[in-house]
Amino acid sequence: MINLNKWIKRINMEGKNNERLINSIRNVNDYPKPGIIFKDITPLLKNPELFSLLINRLVELLKDIDFKYIVGIESRGFILGSAVANKMNKGFIPARKKGKLPYKTVQEEYKLEYGSATLEMHIDALESNDKVVIIDDLLATGGTAKAACNLVNKLNGVVACVCFAIELKQLNGKEILSPIKTVSLLEF
Ligand code: AMP
Repeated sequence: MINLNKWIKRINMEGKNNERLINSIRNVNDYPKPGIIFKDITPLLKNPELFSLLINRLVELLKDIDFKYIVGIESRGFILGSAVANKMNKGFIPARKKGKLPYKTVQEEYKLEYGSATLEMHIDALESNDKVVIIDDLLATGGTAKAACNLVNKLNGVVACVCFAIELKQLNGKEILSPIKTVSLLEF
């Protein structure tokens, strides 16, 4: 009984914390294109308590996953990914937009909710069978995360999980990532 009470308390607390995080995300209408409601996390990041709460909650989501590196997707995936990697004592690897990495790269083109782009990773970023968690701020159609998964596969790495702070449920991005394990903290 005591355990059940503890569990209910924890669920309530998590719900409240998620609500605080959700309330700190700003909706920007028609950015970067008409019809898009952009989820702006800069007000959340600016608040040290909420930023720390977000990182701790992401760490909690990943605590039972066996992996060696976090791959962060440019650019907001860098902010969240490097903080999570540091907290979990893992290495951080950037997946960057085309032309930004200095050394030789592997590339993958992908479609966005708005437009298309290319992601790159350094050719020596991973060794065979290295297990990674990919992190980005938001899952929309899933194209960006799928491209990052394809890059990890091109380098013979293994995607243990893809992790998002925000998921736009309606766009069903988890489907194109299936059967790769995905976790997300805040659903809209
Ligand atoms: P997608 O490839 O469609 O899943 O798009 C996800 C990527 O685009 C992530 O890197 C997001 O940062 C960005 N993105 C897409 N839609 C939004 C949105 N509505 N608000 C904020 N970022 C978005």
